[in-house]
Amino acid sequence: MEMKIGIDAGGTLIKIVQEFENKRKYHTELTINIDKVIQWLNQIKFESLSLTGGQASIIAEQLSKPTQNFVEFDAASKGLGILLKEQGHDINQYIFANVGTGTSLHYFDGQQQQRVGGIGTGGGMIQGLGYLLSQISDYKQLTDLAQKGDRDTIDLKVKHIYKDCEPPIPGDLTAANFGNVLHHMNEDFSLENKLASVVGVVGEVITTMSITVAHEHQTDNVVYIGSSFNNNPLLRKVIEDYTVLRGFNPFYIEHGAFSGAIGAIHLNDNH
Ligand code: ADP
Repeated sequence: MEMKIGIDAGGTLIKIVQEFENKRKYHTELTINIDKVIQWLNQIKFESLSLTGGQASIIAEQLSKPTQNFVEFDAASKGLGILLKEQGHDINQYIFANVGTGTSLHYFDGQQQQRVGGIGTGGGMIQGLGYLLSQISDYKQLTDLAQKGDRDTIDLKVKHIYKDCEPPIPGDLTAANFGNVLHHMNEDFSLENKLASVVGVVGEVITTMSITVAHEHQTDNVVYIGSSFNNNPLLRKVIEDYTVLRGFNPFYIEHGAFSGAIGAIHLNDNH
């Protein structure tokens, strides 16, 4: 059976896609276990191996077989286009926010992507700041806890400031992330609440930047991809709700985190 492999080796995770005649297999490995992936690749048979991401050349160097290496932004854009079409999303112009270890913002104009921004708030911040607050380094444990949290005593909302009168903007908007903490000095802030607030600030900054560049490029569509949404429906909800509240259309794509790996396989299709 002929198999094509696409690998997107990022700062935290290696995304692996095996593509057969009419199906795909998806697999994720921690980047710190890159040697395991290299060993596996040296053992199996494949028709082609396409690589992308910051760690791609480390893999290529240690393989005896030929590989192709692609720029990650083009690979992600190509793969995302394929997934959007397959999943019935008929959009031609959009911003896509790749929420990985860090967040990268791109405008797709119907033909190609252009990188239009980047932010340091992303999955790496959830893990890093999350660890500083909780001493938890296990991703699943950390994100499981965050889902159960409540941001009310930690984040300051507009309605907390406009106590007795109608605010000029929606009262539920965050006025200051973590800005409510000093108003609740006697409170025992739970891990769940602290971690939910970390997810909150990360999600809100990503949304703010995404819709700003969407406005700049005159599109209403924002597509969110990246492994940071794994086991973290709270992040998805924060971003989705805030994007809608600001009047834009959020899209989430199944297997969106594998856009780069899929795109790497197909970037040469039309050449
Ligand atoms: P990159 O290409 O930079 O590695 P990804 O899109 O793979 O970016 O996203 C990395 C982020 O995904 C991490 O920062 C973390 O928040 C999240 N993540 C999802 N699953 C895991 C996991 N099993 N272990 C660690 N981080 C994970």
